[in-house]
Amino acid sequence: MGIFKTINNLLFIPEYICLFCKENLGDYSKYICNDCKELIEFIHREVDLDLNNINGIYYSIQYNRFIKEKIHSFKFQGKSYLYKPFGEILVETIKVKKLKEKVNAVAFVPLHRRKEGLRGYNQSKLLAQYVRDNINLPLLDKHLVKTRWTMDQNKLTKFEREENLIGAFKTMNHKDFKGKDILLIDDIITTGTTMEECGKVLLEGGAKTVTGLALTSSMKI
Ligand SMILES: [Zn+2]
Repeated sequence: MGIFKTINNLLFIPEYICLFCKENLGDYSKYICNDCKELIEFIHREVDLDLNNINGIYYSIQYNRFIKEKIHSFKFQGKSYLYKPFGEILVETIKVKKLKEKVNAVAFVPLHRRKEGLRGYNQSKLLAQYVRDNINLPLLDKHLVKTRWTMDQNKLTKFEREENLIGAFKTMNHKDFKGKDILLIDDIITTGTTMEECGKVLLEGGAKTVTGLALTSSMKI
């Protein structure tokens, strides 16, 4: 019964409930009720991190207690369905900041295949798929890969983060993204080091520009 309930929860989430609190949605709004909306601080902001390989980095919402907890559930507690409300939030930033005028393809920060296997999904890929479906841009899903297992970035100093990621990513199927302006999606920005390293290999592989978009930033910026 327990297992059945779990599977049922994953496969069968009705469209009329808020996916954050599981309460009924009052007025029609996608996946997020008004009570939860009040706990989310929307900012849709560009941050200046002075990166060499990224054209600009944007993020959608403030990293407050509510969002911290929901992102934790999304990444570490199997609540993969949260890609829907979070994806909707990213789509809103794309509209507000007119990012569709700057990019013509979507990519995402990859996980090492072993980590993706353990988790069962890559949360950034789910977000990128949602963006593809809602703003109608092609998704580059077999192009940027993580080839090396690395330590968790959030446990390292800035210098160690850079060292940790050197040579960790590579690209393939270059002809598909040659000359493209890529929107690179991740769940959370810490220092921008991950995006910078992904941007580097995408540019080396032939991309014209790389713009970053994340849900939130855990850094005080
Ligand atoms: Zn709610």
